Amino acid sequence: MVMWAMVVALAGGGSGGDAFDPDAGMSRDTPSIPAAETIPGSQARPVGTPEFLYVNFDGGLLQTGCGNDPHYDCSTLAHLFDGYVGPFEGNFSQRVAILQETRKDLADFGVTTVIERPPDDLDYTMVVYGDLGAQSFAGIAPYIDCEDTRGGDTSFTAAFSSSNTGSTVILQEAAHTWGLEHVDATSDILNPFKSVGQQSFRDECFKIVANTDLEPTAGSCNQIHQRFCDIGYQNSYQEMLLLFGPAVPDVEAPTLEITSPVDGSTHVNPTTIALLGEIDDNLHPQFYSVVIWDNGEQLFDELHVGLDLLLVNPPLGAHEFVVQITDDGGNVAEARVDFTILAEGSELPAEPEDPDEVDEPKGVESCAVGQPDDGPAALLWLLAGLAMVRRRWWS
Ligand SMILES: [Zn+2]
Repeated sequence: MVMWAMVVALAGGGSGGDAFDPDAGMSRDTPSIPAAETIPGSQARPVGTPEFLYVNFDGGLLQTGCGNDPHYDCSTLAHLFDGYVGPFEGNFSQRVAILQETRKDLADFGVTTVIERPPDDLDYTMVVYGDLGAQSFAGIAPYIDCEDTRGGDTSFTAAFSSSNTGSTVILQEAAHTWGLEHVDATSDILNPFKSVGQQSFRDECFKIVANTDLEPTAGSCNQIHQRFCDIGYQNSYQEMLLLFGPAVPDVEAPTLEITSPVDGSTHVNPTTIALLGEIDDNLHPQFYSVVIWDNGEQLFDELHVGLDLLLVNPPLGAHEFVVQITDDGGNVAEARVDFTILAEGSELPAEPEDPDEVDEPKGVESCAVGQPDDGPAALLWLLAGLAMVRRRWWS
């Protein structure tokens, strides 16, 4: 039995083309995916149980002999990658874009997507998104796990830079491990080819196909499919809703701590002050609505992944900054910082906070913003943030 699956292949001159990164080394092939063997005594997933989907951009050594348990990076497909998957080389912004796109496709379901590994005591599904080496497939799952009887599994997606392609392949691989099969409909995420447009979990019955030649088949998981469709057809949207239930409302508020400038500090123009904050949230990273007031007057209102702005030659006088961030669920955090700007040539008052430290844009140190554990990737992200300098005195 062929223990691997191609979920997406280049349409290679076929109609409509495809959205693949030509560097990713895709080629057309015709594998099929096996259904998972039944574990004696195993139970179907209790309907409507929420799930975590962990997109692992960090790669790592794969373990064998432990099935496909994501907690220990176990994979029955480890041999395809010589036991190792390299990290995704894309920068932090690309990771967030892929994450956001994946969350968008899951917005109706009780699946929470994260890019940091959940705690040990949680069940989760993992898709490793990284350098799979030379492969003929865009992504691969170990099996079709009808009714998700095996719980969390590990699957793989090649390191696409496109968030549209990446998120579609992530979701198709994860969905295979939840018991969803390929269908012959280019609009559905379970189509074995990536189509040009947006694919989603569609609320329609589509023909199940055996392979990338789109050969019709009766399918393996009809105990589920037949709840919504005739035998041999699948409604991916309704199956997702059945498995995981509706979206879980996010009621957890983020936290925000302003780390620069120092509260109560004084600065002499010309100066550039970094406005930096540490944000934490159950769904971090994400785009927060960031609103800033200066002495009660709104100064800034934009979507940002973090708080990392530059204040260039602020107006003279005392400033009271209030920074408010709102997450996707509408939960709010607020923090404030006061600082004073003196005219050029002024002397700082006695016993100032070390002005060099306060005034520096901080370079590498600001990596701590919202991404404290991530060295090189965070640096790239910071540079991206600092590049957004505007012509006003804040940036
Ligand atoms: Zn597939």
